[in-house]
Amino acid sequence: MSAEATSGPDFELADFTSARATIGGTIRRTPTVVSESLSKLCGVPVYLKLEHLQETGSFKLRGAANAVLSLSEAAKAKGVVGVSTGNHGRGLAHAARQAGVRCIICMSRLVPQNKVEAIEALGAEVRIVGSSQDEAQIEVDRLVAEDGMTLVPPFDHPDIIAGQGTLGLEILEDVPDVHTVLVQLSGGGLISGVASAIKARRPEVQIIGMSMERGAAMAASLDTGLPIQVPELPTLADSLGGGIGLANRYTFKTVRDLVDKVVLLSEAEIAAGIRHGYWQERQIVEGAGAVCMAALATGKVKPEGPTVALLSGCNIDMRLHHRVISGEDVDVASDQQAEG
Ligand SMILES: *Cc1c(COP(=O)(O)O)cnc(C)c1O
Repeated sequence: MSAEATSGPDFELADFTSARATIGGTIRRTPTVVSESLSKLCGVPVYLKLEHLQETGSFKLRGAANAVLSLSEAAKAKGVVGVSTGNHGRGLAHAARQAGVRCIICMSRLVPQNKVEAIEALGAEVRIVGSSQDEAQIEVDRLVAEDGMTLVPPFDHPDIIAGQGTLGLEILEDVPDVHTVLVQLSGGGLISGVASAIKARRPEVQIIGMSMERGAAMAASLDTGLPIQVPELPTLADSLGGGIGLANRYTFKTVRDLVDKVVLLSEAEIAAGIRHGYWQERQIVEGAGAVCMAALATGKVKPEGPTVALLSGCNIDMRLHHRVISGEDVDVASDQQAEG
């Protein structure tokens, strides 16, 4: 990290090479493969970075492992705490167990039992508190203040961003002449890391951020010029939901300065991406994981040179996946209403 937050980029190449040295022994180096169908469709070589094959089913393990392994021995002895019930929670639980560090994930009583069990299966303690995410956060604050545990946030932290950015180093190694990289964008930890790592070596590479139309907090914040809140809406790309934090410290600025374009996809386009992954690429991906493929498969993004599309995660309910790939016109908003 450079000392002056206002002059130049927050992250330099050494942040990513040292994160890679830290986590290299505990994460998978995922493959990059040619997509024959997308290369033909786009008229340029298109590659898929298969990060949905990462242990725990998403790239979030990279940042979580880097954050846990970078703690002091004293902090490791007290343990880590998180609030995510999704991919960050899984990554953090797994990384902590691997490092022999205690991990507590706090969640509200509204979280479905299958998510509770998924986190417990990874070796974390689950603490159910209150009936909202805000009440769960109060327990987190108490564990930090009274028990000396360390909160590991999902995206807006230098160690998280450095861990996610190790993906950028792998992309440059696998496709040295890459022209454009499509990366998922929610809180922006992933794309901040990938863009910083790639542009430190090849500033001319185009980085395109992919979000969903329903509740894209970073896109709305970029339009406004400062972090803002938008209503959270049900979407097939559920791992892209949530805000960027009104007190955002790193990712808003990094995305603003390094990401060349942000593209938003409809639910139908995201579904098309999941279908493309399955029928053309033989890959099972979740909605968020499919948005980069979706942008190319639907012609929404027309690349001009060798292009890498990131597949970021595979944690989708398999019944939902089955309905989407069978061609059903799934609307998760009305699904949720039907379930009550
Ligand atoms: C968290 C997540 C993202 C978005 O990452 P951010 O760092 O929040 O932008 C994309 N895809 C999947 C599968 C995720 O779990």
